[in-house]
Amino acid sequence: MNRRYSEHDVEHYDRPKRKGSRPRTKERPTYDEAVDGVVVTVDRGRFTVIVEGRELWAVKARPLGRKGVVTGDRVRIVGDTTGAEGSLARIVEVAPRSTVLRRTADDDDPVERVLVANADQLVVVTALADPEPRTGLIDRALVAAYDAGLAPLLCLTKADLADPETLLSTYRSLGVPWVVTRKDGDLTELRERLAGRTSVLLGHSGVGKSTLVNALVPDARREVGHVNAVTGRGRHTSTSALMLRLPDEAGWIVDTPGIRSFGLAHVEPEHLIEAFPDLDEMTEDCPRGCTHGADEPECGLDQAVEAGQADPERVASFRRLLEARSVPAYLL
Ligand code: ZN
Repeated sequence: MNRRYSEHDVEHYDRPKRKGSRPRTKERPTYDEAVDGVVVTVDRGRFTVIVEGRELWAVKARPLGRKGVVTGDRVRIVGDTTGAEGSLARIVEVAPRSTVLRRTADDDDPVERVLVANADQLVVVTALADPEPRTGLIDRALVAAYDAGLAPLLCLTKADLADPETLLSTYRSLGVPWVVTRKDGDLTELRERLAGRTSVLLGHSGVGKSTLVNALVPDARREVGHVNAVTGRGRHTSTSALMLRLPDEAGWIVDTPGIRSFGLAHVEPEHLIEAFPDLDEMTEDCPRGCTHGADEPECGLDQAVEAGQADPERVASFRRLLEARSVPAYLL
């Protein structure tokens, strides 16, 4: 490790050393020796961090106080970073987050939480049949994506059972990209969409999300087993998101095994519409406090539709998302 001569050293050596006084570097740690890592999962206050390709375990250092550390956070750590059995490092810094995927408090969880930091894509995994797709759930996941600043992607599974066209027609006017997969099918297109990005996979049980995760990261099971060496449990049962590296360093996916509900009450209409710049532009003259919903008397979106400047289907779809915010949170 290159430890460069710095101002802190000057400070340290300039001070007259009194016997028994704590060195200044102890009082104001500079963490020159800290290394960079990324948090891949959290379980009972312990963090699994990947540093230079190896997994190690860490806890939060005291200076971080109550600051949350979540899956996807880029952190600096000190202490025993060997990853050897029984070793424990300390997280001393959390880098500013580029994005946060959060959920509002709901019946499942009384606290508003950040679920994943620094992701750039939200993959909404939905089966085309068995179980039947539910647009309400998809809408809610899209709202979460747009609000968090993540690019949405529809991943429609079980295309061998049903034609995707009916479902796609619902989302075409929003311009949501999509891929279809089928049983034992080729995942090339999905892999291309995931390449070089950090993608959160959301989907309720039975849609084939676990199958996809196992196909995309063939050694996921082993990695998850590794995580469990810490918790001493047979499998990853934490509700925390779990970040997995795609083979050939092609990006990361974040599995969300414990998410059964997804409160969205924190999402502001003004923030949601920013995800649609063309529509946002048309709301400049809206009355103060306009939510841009269908029941607003003087919304600029209605004027734009009447004037033929806005696609009525796109406006209607945006308003459907707006409505989806306030539907009870269950399942996703
Ligand atoms: Zn409006």
